[in-house]
Amino acid sequence: MATEPCAGCGRDVSIAGGIANFWSFDTDSTDGLTLELADGSEYFLCFACIEELPDNPRAEDVTALGAAEDPEDTRS
Ligand SMILES: [Zn+2]
Repeated sequence: MATEPCAGCGRDVSIAGGIANFWSFDTDSTDGLTLELADGSEYFLCFACIEELPDNPRAEDVTALGAAEDPEDTRS
């Protein structure tokens, strides 16, 4: 069992054996997967963050995941 930090929320996410398991849907012990965006960049995300993303996520959508934990009044 290994863990990988989620690119969205920063939590350590359990991964069973890399993205190869994604194709066999062996997700029993895997809480996230690597998402490749349309621009070719890749982010490892937990399923909770993936659900928060729009259908065609961009890099800024991934970055916004972590920022979303801050309240709206963070104008400094
Ligand atoms: Zn996450």
